[in-house]
Amino acid sequence: MSSSIEREQQYYMQVSRRLPVVLVRGEGVRVWDEDGKAYLDLVAGIATSILGHGHPKLVEAIREQAGRLVHVSNLYYSQPQIELARLLVENSCCQRVFFGNSGAEANEGAIKVARKWGRVKRGGAYEVITVEDSFHGRTLATLAATGQAKFHKPFEPMPAGFVNVPFNDIAAVKAATNERTAAVLIEVVQGESGVHPARVDYVQALRRWCDEQGLLFMLDEVQTGMGRTGKFFGYEHFGVEPDVIAMAKGLAGGVPIGAVLVTDKANVFDYGDHGSTFGGNPLACAAGVATMKVLRAEGLVENSAVVGRYFLGKLEELQARQPAIAEVRGLGLMLALDTKEERANDIVLAALRRGLILNATGPRTVRMVPPLVLSKSDVDEAVAIIEAAIAEVSQS
Ligand SMILES: *Cc1c(COP(=O)(O)O)cnc(C)c1O
Repeated sequence: MSSSIEREQQYYMQVSRRLPVVLVRGEGVRVWDEDGKAYLDLVAGIATSILGHGHPKLVEAIREQAGRLVHVSNLYYSQPQIELARLLVENSCCQRVFFGNSGAEANEGAIKVARKWGRVKRGGAYEVITVEDSFHGRTLATLAATGQAKFHKPFEPMPAGFVNVPFNDIAAVKAATNERTAAVLIEVVQGESGVHPARVDYVQALRRWCDEQGLLFMLDEVQTGMGRTGKFFGYEHFGVEPDVIAMAKGLAGGVPIGAVLVTDKANVFDYGDHGSTFGGNPLACAAGVATMKVLRAEGLVENSAVVGRYFLGKLEELQARQPAIAEVRGLGLMLALDTKEERANDIVLAALRRGLILNATGPRTVRMVPPLVLSKSDVDEAVAIIEAAIAEVSQS
């Protein structure tokens, strides 16, 4: 066994079931382990390293900013922070931005916006309606918002103020709405639970219901934002605009960052209502600015749509000739396949041995959220390995 793996087992909290590989270097869509073996990376740090690994423009921006000023706090103005906020406002339906350091923190910000909104606009309402099989983060409030009981159990009691209803069910949201309700929070494509898109009519009905009832319509675009689905934001597929957006993952190309965006209507925070020591620091925001610029300059949102469609087509062809596959799904470069038997982990391990990195989100579901620089020939290579891996594990 690698000494890094032994030391992890000695020193690190044992909270992650890691794949047996120590990754040390990356370039484009490839990463290398400590023995020099190369892998095609279809996980990208969980939908995060959207420019691929070691993109020269991102590396240069981080290097340059690190030499100039890493951190100053929000007691002062900071050029990269203001620039990234401007770029997000210009590319969204929102008018104001606050930066944190992760997806959970972005959703915490959104939940606090909902509570403040309820307090000042809806007579003290504070509840947030969320949906089953959602994922909003690992802090206590975002866990309470997450509609998966398995994450709650060890940490009960959960913070109050969240109501969980079935996904894609507008009647359930209506039935759960009362004088305590402040907001609705969903992902337009559920990521952690295995790439499950919302229905268009559902999202549109939610928007109308929130308008009628005076609720905030909040989207967790932590995974779906930054071009992942083939549009800059996932909501652009649905013909609606939210009041609040949480972002993180790909926003700074792999450097930790999170953001909550609000429209003028939802801009309810006053001085002192929210803050963060690290949030929006010059290093993270310089990386975010570089990521946004490369995304536009290299047409990566369009590439996500085009290569994502190609990938889904290839997975459909694979499904037609491989009876072990139950279903394939995808929107842009956010894709998954379900197996009939519980073989997802075996497929991930078999693919890893063959030099391909995949992610099992459940016993029957394999997820693919590659860098947005992925090419059609990368897809051909990946699908050939997926086919071989499935054939291998289906024989055993
Ligand atoms: C990953 C994810 C989060 C949590 O982000 P962290 O950076 O791990 O806190 C929240 N919501 C969605 C939709 C995610 O995919």
